[in-house]
Amino acid sequence: MGFSIYLYSVLSFSGLVILLAAGLMIAERFLINYGICKLDINAGEKPLEVVGGQTLLSSLYANEIFIPSPCGGKGSCGQCKLTVVSGGGPVLPTETPHLTRKEIRSGVRLACQVKVREDIYVRIPEDYLNVKLFSATVESTRSLTYDIKEIRLKLNDPPEISQRPGQYVQIQAPSPDGPIFRAYSISTPAHEPTVVELVVRLVPGGIGSTYLHNLEVNNPAAFTGPYGEFYLNDDPSVEIVCVGGGAGMAPMKNIIYTIYDRWPERSCWLFFGCRTTRDIFYLEQFKKLQREHPSFHVVYALSDELGPDEKWDGETGFIHLSVDKYLEHDIPRQAFLCGPPLMIQAVTRVLEEKGIRPEDIFYDEF
Ligand SMILES: Cc1cc2nc3c(=O)[nH]c(=O)nc-3n(C[C@H](O)[C@H](O)[C@H](O)COP(=O)(O)OP(=O)(O)OC[C@H]3O[C@@H](n4cnc5c(N)ncnc54)[C@H](O)[C@@H]3O)c2cc1C
Repeated sequence: MGFSIYLYSVLSFSGLVILLAAGLMIAERFLINYGICKLDINAGEKPLEVVGGQTLLSSLYANEIFIPSPCGGKGSCGQCKLTVVSGGGPVLPTETPHLTRKEIRSGVRLACQVKVREDIYVRIPEDYLNVKLFSATVESTRSLTYDIKEIRLKLNDPPEISQRPGQYVQIQAPSPDGPIFRAYSISTPAHEPTVVELVVRLVPGGIGSTYLHNLEVNNPAAFTGPYGEFYLNDDPSVEIVCVGGGAGMAPMKNIIYTIYDRWPERSCWLFFGCRTTRDIFYLEQFKKLQREHPSFHVVYALSDELGPDEKWDGETGFIHLSVDKYLEHDIPRQAFLCGPPLMIQAVTRVLEEKGIRPEDIFYDEF
């Protein structure tokens, strides 16, 4: 009896809170008019006037200022950090998991969570002000595995992109609630500036990956970019190690082809983890690159037991075991990891045991 009264009270209270929150959201959307608000960017560098009530992220987007938001503005990736000097209102509970105490003290906020309800003064890094909106046409598509496709986009306007290897773009995909954005790494190297190639794994029911998998030659496409914090060390004596799996191939392909365009003798490793032979792609083209550049080493490993019809004479087991087997200790190197979080954790541990400094390990989880 006591428990059911307790349960009833908790449910009634939760229901009331949900109703109030929904009421506030509806009132904010349809009844409250914040009028025109001023956005001051970098102390007068780019003054804007925007209609109040939108998020800072979408207000900036409407004015062609594209802040990285690989989660599509859902508040889950924590990438759209900007310093709001004044006018952003209090920090929200949805922001705090992504902010350190120091960041909160210095006014860092998630642009996707801050609502523009008054004049705002915001500081935006110069790199972001250089991000552009691109229109493109699908040049080709091909299946690399049962769930991964390569999609090449020929740029129309602007006709070229300037990118660092390992950076990504945010593709605009239609959805019933309006356009959404998803992050995809650029797999073409910087010396092919007129094309952006993507390597996309189909996520069942996923909006962005389904849209990209259904694109056909000559379809239009739009994206913003480039974004991303990967910095390839320019010193050719520093060995480069790329480790990944699945669509994590995209940034690594870009990095590897950039390296052999700029430094034909630079030492570089590619470790690629697959579950079965069905997940293997690009192996032949990397073997060709290895023949042309003996300082390039390619290792693919299969983690599942071989099926009765499968033939494989390469490495087996999880990819971090191959990294452990092949890499020497204590030589100057930089590593780029792209794949699922568990793989990244296991590989990071092995690399640190090999003497690589944490600041020389870059990773994208996807
Ligand atoms: C910096 C960065 C670079 C990226 N580069 C690439 C790339 O080169 N190629 C690529 O294919 N992807 C890449 N991704 C992932 C990509 O941005 C999307 O998250 C992914 O394609 C799923 O988007 P979606 O719209 O299809 O699915 P959503 O509509 O967002 O999600 C549908 C459902 O699938 C779940 N889900 C979302 N993502 C995944 C996932 N990865 N695996 C399993 N379930 C998931 C969601 O929880 C949801 O339930 C990258 C992500 C980041 C952050």
